[in-house]
Amino acid sequence: MSEKKSTELWSSISLPSKFKPYTQKECKIRPLKVGEVRQIQSSIDGTSGLSIAEIIRDAVSIPVLDLTHGDFWFVLAWLRINTYRNYPLSLEWKCKNKHTNSLVIDLTKINIVELSSEYSEPVILKTENRKLSLRLPRVGDEILARKYLSEINDDGAFTQEDVDQACQALQLVTGQSLYHNLEALKEIEADPDGPEIIVKIDSLKTVFSHGLPRLLSDKCKECKYQASDIYFPFRFSDLTPRITVIKDFRSDLSFSETSELPSK
Ligand SMILES: [Zn+2]
Repeated sequence: MSEKKSTELWSSISLPSKFKPYTQKECKIRPLKVGEVRQIQSSIDGTSGLSIAEIIRDAVSIPVLDLTHGDFWFVLAWLRINTYRNYPLSLEWKCKNKHTNSLVIDLTKINIVELSSEYSEPVILKTENRKLSLRLPRVGDEILARKYLSEINDDGAFTQEDVDQACQALQLVTGQSLYHNLEALKEIEADPDGPEIIVKIDSLKTVFSHGLPRLLSDKCKECKYQASDIYFPFRFSDLTPRITVIKDFRSDLSFSETSELPSK
């Protein structure tokens, strides 16, 4: 992390995982800077090879690549909300009487899904012949998997299935290299009950899901209808606000009557 300047607005936040998967037990975070916002826009447009996780890493005190996916999306929502204070993250929804409402997302008021208190790392999975030590997937797993696969393949070619397999191998807590983990995973896959074990490893993220809720609640301002199933689709493209209400933007501008446009 780069050196903190006194002008930066750092906040201490809790994470949906309650820090159970990490050695660090606190997280400091600051709003994004202009350069980072530009990089995010390039990443979303596909004109930059940098991942969002790599772009935001100086804004968060915990290594972003170590974050679980649930914590990562929570951090992204925090950054979106606190970077653009005048353009709140909001959701339009219609009540059953077709009234249009706008729900402003307030991370302190929505019900964040917390990681089960039963989770501790590693999670031990016992099968008939095996005892596996596992962990939840991390944001950096795919980056590590792709790096490894491009190194071991002479022609640099690999499939998404290879990536998925390497990511799953990274969930095995062996204290050894990814090469070793992949060999161990291939051995499991060759077992008669291999498919069942793989499904169990894969379901870890469902059993211990945490992070932003997928559905939100709000009350209609006109008819007071209480909705509890407002879908909250937060994606990378939601990281910057879309200024669609032109009059909001125009109110920030002033036009001098005496100024002349430069002649062509
Ligand atoms: Zn209504």
